[in-house]
Amino acid sequence: MGAPRLVLLGKQGAGKGTQGKRLAEHYGIPHLSTGEVFRERAAAGTAFGLEAKRYMDEGELVPDDVVIGVMEECLAPGGPLSDGFVLDGFPRTLAQSRELDRLLDGRPIDAVINLEVPTEIVIDRIAGRRVCETCQRVYHVSMPPTTPWICDDDGGPVVQREDDTEEAVMRRLELYEQETAPLIDYYREQRKLTTVDGVGDGDEVFERIVKTVDERVSDP
Ligand code: ADP
Repeated sequence: MGAPRLVLLGKQGAGKGTQGKRLAEHYGIPHLSTGEVFRERAAAGTAFGLEAKRYMDEGELVPDDVVIGVMEECLAPGGPLSDGFVLDGFPRTLAQSRELDRLLDGRPIDAVINLEVPTEIVIDRIAGRRVCETCQRVYHVSMPPTTPWICDDDGGPVVQREDDTEEAVMRRLELYEQETAPLIDYYREQRKLTTVDGVGDGDEVFERIVKTVDERVSDP
């Protein structure tokens, strides 16, 4: 099979980042998290990054035109995502999904994986979430790195994200319901949607996703 084009949908804390990285490795495709792109640009102190950070710290969405501008560069033919990808955190509004379809003209998405996790569980996951500042690997307070708060992968400091405050998380979950949940119907109508139970052991969730992707990609 060719390099798959995948989209991960799911609430904050559903595991899109963790599973996205594993899927990227498994299929040999790039993983693009728009949240990570914005955090990296904010840490680098670019005008663009600092502007995005204002929205992120409040739990608000970065405006569509800004996000779409970034994605347009990445998805351009010959660009980093021109041969397969796993998108995490984009699209997040109906306007963004329509734009994605336009940008992908002739190379449509193979599968949209809706990682389903109940709200009580994601709230607990986010409250305990800690992230490596350099490689963005995600940990939970219940399972710290071998040397506390030094990343096992690259030795970077493992910290709490600035937008993981209770207020910002509540706002992000509210925006998920208003702006992103409608994408579930959008992709169901296009017969692209596959819902995967995101509760349980990370390895089990990963196997569930791979199984459904392999079925979809070999039998579209
Ligand atoms: P989470 O899914 O937990 O909110 P992300 O790392 O995916 O974490 O995103 C962090 C923040 O980045 C979001 O709260 C939002 O401000 C911004 N962001 C990321 N992707 C998008 C997008 N597609 N559209 C608008 N804002 C986005």
